Amino acid sequence: MKVFKFGGASLKNAAGVKNVASIIHQHGPNNLLVVVSAMGKTTNALEKIHSLATSGQNASSQITILNDYHQEILRELFPAGHAVYTAVASLFKELEAQLTTSGEFDQVYDQVVSLGELISSVIVHHYLLSQKEASHWLDARTCIATDACFREGKVAWPKTSSNIQQLIPVLEKHIVITQGFIGRTDAGYTTTLGREGSDFSAAIFASCLQANSVTIWKDVPGVMNADPKRLPAATVFEELPFREAAEMTYYGANVIHPKTIKPLANKGIPLLVKNFEDPSLPGTRIHECTVENLPPLIVFKDNQCLISCKVTDYTFITEEHLSAIFQALSSLDLRLNVMQNSAITFSFCLDFREHKVLALIQKLQQQFEVYYNTGLTLITIKNYDEPTFEKYRSHPGVLLEQSSRSTLQVLVRP
Ligand code: ASP
Ligand code: MG
Repeated sequence: MKVFKFGGASLKNAAGVKNVASIIHQHGPNNLLVVVSAMGKTTNALEKIHSLATSGQNASSQITILNDYHQEILRELFPAGHAVYTAVASLFKELEAQLTTSGEFDQVYDQVVSLGELISSVIVHHYLLSQKEASHWLDARTCIATDACFREGKVAWPKTSSNIQQLIPVLEKHIVITQGFIGRTDAGYTTTLGREGSDFSAAIFASCLQANSVTIWKDVPGVMNADPKRLPAATVFEELPFREAAEMTYYGANVIHPKTIKPLANKGIPLLVKNFEDPSLPGTRIHECTVENLPPLIVFKDNQCLISCKVTDYTFITEEHLSAIFQALSSLDLRLNVMQNSAITFSFCLDFREHKVLALIQKLQQQFEVYYNTGLTLITIKNYDEPTFEKYRSHPGVLLEQSSRSTLQVLVRP
């Protein structure tokens, strides 16, 4: 049993759909479950549509642009009158209907934004059928059960697992095409699993099916030791231990969604990262292994905010101060990326989620003198060697620096 995941970049146009179908063709026709994301930048477009509609503005021109984008793909793949046109049209009707329902912001967000994956999976399924593949379309929401934490649905594993196991007979004769990113609550509301969560969906299906592997098809040749757009000399890892890959995602490498590794590592299911433009490239194998002398891994995390809390009364930073700071962070569900203390200040850096961070600063100001900087970049160098260590320590504009025996982090003004 194999699980494949294709992201939005691989399905951004009709040629992309054809390419995905040809990769699927080489691996089908049975014991293959395929998870797809929304096409191209559809999720961003749906977010925009939702935010316009909920703030009382007219979203109709944005809806038309999104519909036109999908219609163009359809026209290149299917003759006029094909059943897929009706299927996609009814999902766009559903979009309009969801925008007029009343409900909590996040709840409506999930009902709206999930439609991107439903549309793309319907298109891929019909295209495979037109190519005489034994495709079976699955509504992932009938399998992935979650709580009602909208936009960050937490998986109800026992129920999800028993739902997914029902697929085994179907998979014996079919390629199952389903959506990433989405699930459903007990009450029947659609939930999403967090942005870029389709990788995680693939891991959920694989874990519950005890698959032999998961392959994430990407526009890069594999997992690289740096973002090639930033460091053109970046190289591809042939293989990586699960732990190393999990830590990379923690530091902000966005090649795999952070929640993906754990369910796979727990079951010993290898994760392959391969290139959809050139499937003959070996890609990266993430599995249980030891790799000697990994090259330094360099991760850039933008949009960071550095906050310094200074005690105002000539005392030193104490555990009580730290505890108040951490309580404020946890009450807002904020996560630190780096922290550092001195006699009278405690400084930390976190992702600048403006709304929440400003609320945090307001809270902290009740007890501390607070300073903050935004627009910073956190550079993490894992498994550094001497030249990289020296290079990044002397990077211009360093505001904060921290190192352990394996990892150097510098926060810089870009
Ligand atoms: N389409 C969703 C997103 O863009 C999920 C995913 O791509 O993994 O966030
Ligand atoms: Mg995506």
